[in-house]
Amino acid sequence: MSPPKRVAVIGAGAAGLATTRQLKRAGLSPVVFEAEATLGGTWVYSDETESDPLSMDPRRRRVHTSMYRNLRTNLPRDLMAFREYPFDVRGGADTSWPRFPAHEEVLTYLRRYAEHFDLQPHIRFRTTVETVVPLDPDGDRWTDPSDVGTWLVCSTRPGGASEEEQFDAVAVCNGHFSVPNVPDLPGAAAFGGVRLHSHNYRQPEDFAGKRVVLLGGRASGIDIAIEVAEFASRTLLSVRDARAGRSLPGCEDISVCAAIDRFDGNDLVLADGGRIEAVDVVLYCTGYRYAVPFVNEPAIVCVDDGWIHPLYLDLFSAVAPSLGFIGLGNMIIPFPQYELQAAAFAAVTTGAKSLPDRMERERLARSRERALRRAGTSERYFLTQGERQFAYNDLLAKHFDLAPITPSFEKLHHAVEDARANDAKHYRSHPLPWLDDDYERAAETH
Ligand code: FAD
Repeated sequence: MSPPKRVAVIGAGAAGLATTRQLKRAGLSPVVFEAEATLGGTWVYSDETESDPLSMDPRRRRVHTSMYRNLRTNLPRDLMAFREYPFDVRGGADTSWPRFPAHEEVLTYLRRYAEHFDLQPHIRFRTTVETVVPLDPDGDRWTDPSDVGTWLVCSTRPGGASEEEQFDAVAVCNGHFSVPNVPDLPGAAAFGGVRLHSHNYRQPEDFAGKRVVLLGGRASGIDIAIEVAEFASRTLLSVRDARAGRSLPGCEDISVCAAIDRFDGNDLVLADGGRIEAVDVVLYCTGYRYAVPFVNEPAIVCVDDGWIHPLYLDLFSAVAPSLGFIGLGNMIIPFPQYELQAAAFAAVTTGAKSLPDRMERERLARSRERALRRAGTSERYFLTQGERQFAYNDLLAKHFDLAPITPSFEKLHHAVEDARANDAKHYRSHPLPWLDDDYERAAETH
């Protein structure tokens, strides 16, 4: 019998925890590297922000979390939860969770999840992975086209020496909401007001009496605009789509305007020719970039700002699938998808499931890329799933013989989306259907 596989998991946020759980479930004993002192990743709120409010200075003091003080989830907890571990403790002992929990409640939930599945003993806190280097089956530095045998993981602890260890597989779960994407707008450098990215936004009181323009009409832009509008003298949300010129349903205190074309002193010139005068604050809610600084082997995987490639099923390195990326999707319901991806990665790692050969994996990755380009999708959105997430989840379930996510999940998702579109301010208190009972049961019994 061959010895059990040694597996490294990088990150103990929701994706890393799900991966650790699924690897354990498959009989493995992973080592989890976590740079911070505690688990939870994004959900570990901190008042601290980066030393550069736009996060562009490479020498800035860095902060992992982008969480802001008043954040409540934008998904109801029954939809958001891992399928095998609902927020409510089984047996109905704890029914005190709000339907849309606050960030600290999500952190409590993740801690309970880790406790329930005994994940903490696997985690090495304050341990940062610096490099992940592929080795060939003889233990020498990998060169294409040989197979990857193992991965040499180099990690450091504060004040400690670095340590090198070999692993048969590595799951990258380092998150992708920490490195801001800041569009370059002409004239920005001469702007006399404050510019910051939502990564460094914490509380609306900081904007009392100011004229604030938020860039970006997605979840964070809208959510932050709503709370800022309670304190700011004027709040404008700048979007690229047809919402410009209308008001956000339920949010009369927010004006929606066209995309920003350029700065002109302290004014902003809009793409439709409009102008916003005497702006105090520009808040960039313009998303994040992918960054995997510890993997530096472009012949295996390229990490661009907007996507990572070539990947098989958006999950495995197509060249060396013992390197997995759990949690890359954007505009998804994250936790249940992480669970599916983690279970798929665990199944391949133990050998319970096999993948097509390298040529076929690369061919499929290329053909998917071509299809996205043909559809006019820019690279930055290749890993954005939105409506595609349901078909993707089904595909994973089918490929790896996992419990599929039932239609009630998609139905509830659409009900939440509709409620949010109709009333971005109050949708969390709208009456919404609950997931059918058979939803969690399907995952449990599988
Ligand atoms: P993270 O939570 O970022 O965890 C990554 C972990 O990896 C961190 O702990 C980090 O310290 C560690 N790490 C990174 N690099 C290294 C290294 N080199 N060595 C060791 N450790 C490392 N999702 C929802 O489902 N509902 C919501 O309402 C919701 N709201 C959100 C609001 C905001 C403002 C943001 C930013 C995200 C929100 N999300 C929401 C998405 C959320 O990010 C995901 O749900 C999920 O928490 C991401 O988990 P992750 O494990 O992929 O990444």
